[in-house]
Amino acid sequence: MHNTAIKTAPNDNVAIVATPTGLKRGSIVLGTTVLVEEIPMGHKVALQTLEMGDEVRRYGQVIGYATRTIEKGSWVNEGNISLPEPPKLDAIEYKPVRPPVEDDEELKAQLRKASFMGYRNADGSVGTKNVLAITTSVQCVAGITNFIENKIRKELLPLYPNVDDVVAFNHSYGCGIAIDAPGAIVPIRTIKNIAQNPNFGGEVMIIGLGCEKLRPEKIAPPLGEGGLSILYLQDERFEGFFEMVDGIMELAETHLQKLNQRQRTRCSVADLVVGMQCGGSDAFSGLTGNPVSGFAADLIVKAGGTVFFSEVTEVRDAIHLLVPRAMDETVAQKLKDEMAWYDNYLYQGQADRSANTTPGNKGGGLSNIVEKALGSVAKSGTSPIVDVVSPGEKVRKKGLNFVATPASDFACGTLQLAAGMNMHVFITGRGTPYGLNMVPVIKVSSNSKLANRWHDLIDFDAGPVAFGEKTIEEMGWELFHLILEVASGTKKVATDKLGLYNDLVLFNPGPLT
Ligand code: CA
Repeated sequence: MHNTAIKTAPNDNVAIVATPTGLKRGSIVLGTTVLVEEIPMGHKVALQTLEMGDEVRRYGQVIGYATRTIEKGSWVNEGNISLPEPPKLDAIEYKPVRPPVEDDEELKAQLRKASFMGYRNADGSVGTKNVLAITTSVQCVAGITNFIENKIRKELLPLYPNVDDVVAFNHSYGCGIAIDAPGAIVPIRTIKNIAQNPNFGGEVMIIGLGCEKLRPEKIAPPLGEGGLSILYLQDERFEGFFEMVDGIMELAETHLQKLNQRQRTRCSVADLVVGMQCGGSDAFSGLTGNPVSGFAADLIVKAGGTVFFSEVTEVRDAIHLLVPRAMDETVAQKLKDEMAWYDNYLYQGQADRSANTTPGNKGGGLSNIVEKALGSVAKSGTSPIVDVVSPGEKVRKKGLNFVATPASDFACGTLQLAAGMNMHVFITGRGTPYGLNMVPVIKVSSNSKLANRWHDLIDFDAGPVAFGEKTIEEMGWELFHLILEVASGTKKVATDKLGLYNDLVLFNPGPLT
């Protein structure tokens, strides 16, 4: 027998309708609540009569206040609840809360045994794919780098069978920018650090125009054991387009020869760097997909690996629950500083965090950003937060990191790539074909209705958790094993099978000129 409505914490006064077709007026949920109107799947039903001004509680937290009397059994949505103020940052004191120390020997043994086959790099990082990246210093070259990408794929990749793909990293930055503005550091270090993503094996090839403000040398990595080459299209040795093409193809071959020698070797879970992200969330995301991903995140961290969670506007309203999880006072302060920076960034644009929720989120039952954030942070699991990585920076510590990014799927994915992720887990309730060509993206659906409809786009269905058919723990382990298989290259994700890839989007808080 399926649950018809789900309560997320004992003192909640609303529950989520779980039945895929929604529930008709007169249906009885959780024993005593009789629906006074029809309520769609994912939406909230009042479990008691709420007077105007009463707290509406989900996840044991206040997600809003009733703006009029809401009868028991009524539909609770953005039309009858108000948006509370976000937690005041200065008022949050650092009082550490730690998960219990792990003493399960069987679990420890199981995690020690777990491994995957990855590409070990000279700097110690590990790739899950073997890709030739073409980094660019300015948008002016994009037409040519796209042309080159196709030509390499057709003519050179068949000669280097061990290389999975070639990717031109085109972006809108490089010229017409205020390069000395404080915000410019974000896109510059993002481009630089993406070129050093573990999946590119330390081979960095930069194509510049020649007159741009962003000098290719500024985004080149420090000289290491990998290869670095820089080519300017304005170089006077090139007479016309086809000579440029020949010049780039020649450089590409030198990098492909080295990439082709990469071999997968056995790596431990400690070598995983998994970026967690949500997109197109619904009310189930916080019940199924995010807690299941959070459970897998905890397993990876317990095994010594690295996990990122991000999306500032989706953690802002849950920050009071995250600060106690910071490793120390410095990390707690950095968390609050990133929130304050983003509050100000939004304020400058005459917006606030309430601009985050989409019509799709609301259609899926999420009334406001508070409810969305409380569900969103579940994907971080329960581990202590060891460090906070600012937008575009590279990760410094293993363990659970907060990587500060916008919630926009493409901006977040781009910044997580820069931070060094080698695997991406993306949780969706409404559905999105989101994919990246630089790292595998495992798409997790929060409800089986979506997984059934999008059977060839979703990689993992966390829906069975909603109906009690499987536990969060069972599904968390399944996702953990899937991550290892995908990281090993033995299982392909849907977007890699179909070749569906989004553009990367640079986060540029600085002005253009
Ligand atoms: Ca997102």
